[in-house]
Amino acid sequence: MDFTLTEDQLAFAQSAKQFAKKELRPHAAEWDRSSYFPIEVIKKSGELGFLGLYTNPDYGGLGLPRLDSAIVFEALAWGDTSVAAYMSIHNMVSWMIGAYASEELCQQYLPKMMSGEWLGSYCLTEPNAGSDAASLRTKADKQGDYYILNGEKAFISGAGSTDVLVVMARTGDTGAKGVSAFVIDATSAGIEYGKNEHKMGWKAQPTRTISFKDVKVPAANLIGKEGQGFSIAMKGLDGGRINIGICAVGTAQSALETATSYVKDRSQFGKPIASFQSVQFKLADMLTQTIAARQMLYLAANKVDNNDPQASTYCAMAKQLSTDLSFEVANQALQLHGGYGYLNDYPLERHVRDLRVHQILEGTNEIMRVIVSRQMLQDDALSSLR
Ligand SMILES: Cc1cc2nc3c(=O)[nH]c(=O)nc-3n(C[C@H](O)[C@H](O)[C@H](O)COP(=O)(O)OP(=O)(O)OC[C@H]3O[C@@H](n4cnc5c(N)ncnc54)[C@H](O)[C@@H]3O)c2cc1C
Repeated sequence: MDFTLTEDQLAFAQSAKQFAKKELRPHAAEWDRSSYFPIEVIKKSGELGFLGLYTNPDYGGLGLPRLDSAIVFEALAWGDTSVAAYMSIHNMVSWMIGAYASEELCQQYLPKMMSGEWLGSYCLTEPNAGSDAASLRTKADKQGDYYILNGEKAFISGAGSTDVLVVMARTGDTGAKGVSAFVIDATSAGIEYGKNEHKMGWKAQPTRTISFKDVKVPAANLIGKEGQGFSIAMKGLDGGRINIGICAVGTAQSALETATSYVKDRSQFGKPIASFQSVQFKLADMLTQTIAARQMLYLAANKVDNNDPQASTYCAMAKQLSTDLSFEVANQALQLHGGYGYLNDYPLERHVRDLRVHQILEGTNEIMRVIVSRQMLQDDALSSLR
């Protein structure tokens, strides 16, 4: 077992870190304050391949393993959590198209998505179908060469500013097997967007509801087969959960670096606060937690890269552990800054606000535990979960 990063992985990490240092980190506070979605910067990242990290190379993606992609996302999130997290969702959408859509759809959508000319949104959640996503009600009725879509999606990242929607809609009976996936132009007639939600964090990307009223979607825009949509959505989320987890780790790393430097500079009781053992122990825990979170995600990425039958279980474990630990690290970094941590002159309060949602979306951390416990209670499952 070799835990050393390869030369390629180090090169990707370095190029992502340079991009984050130059294009993201200096602007992150301002974008957060003004709720600005920096589309032009996201497009620029396309030149480096960051909009199709693990997308099919036949259509302009880099086709990297999930582990290598995770290394890039961590560096980007070190620069700006909210923007990196949106980029991870775009990557998930592109991957779903590249892995399951027809040759024609791939040719039509992916080159423009890889360059950033078109951005994507992932549309699964509905007002009454969140954790129980398989109960979704958006309907797609086949009429001749078209499907007619009616329904509503909630909490869609990027919505209103993106160009391509991957929408999960019901073509059959109730339950997961009645769901199909479609790729839809975001400006199609009958699509309406709600207001940009006022959120606690992730302010540098919009979140909106989307309603579909008699939206005509060419039958050829079905991804995969009818009834395969929920399984495609869940496969997308395996990678998505690694991405959301590693974006949390990138932010935790940033918080840890800020706090480590602060405690050496800040003096109370006539000496640097870094000299107090309780502060040292806190820092030690934060570093241990950050590394544990990162390694768990690398393990899950490795399971996906090797098509391990338990890959989804590892992704769920890694998402839950890494987002909980990373939130805790950022919160402790804020605590180490005392009152200053609460001011937006410092990045800690933004890190805490941004990281909170990582425990909620792409499946809440309770749902991650549902997935893990369901698997581990199967006969003999523990032998394949180590
Ligand atoms: C900022 C943001 C961006 C998002 N982006 C997207 C996006 O781009 N695309 C998309 O499709 N969705 C997106 N989501 C939606 C997100 O995935 C859902 O919010 C999430 O899956 C939870 O669904 P819910 O909000 O309906 O909560 P609910 O499902 O109503 O859950 C409420 C509470 O009940 C708990 N709970 C529910 N069922 C169980 C159970 N069986 N056992 C134990 N506890 C349970 C949950 O863990 C949670 O604590 C986004 C959400 C946010 C906040």
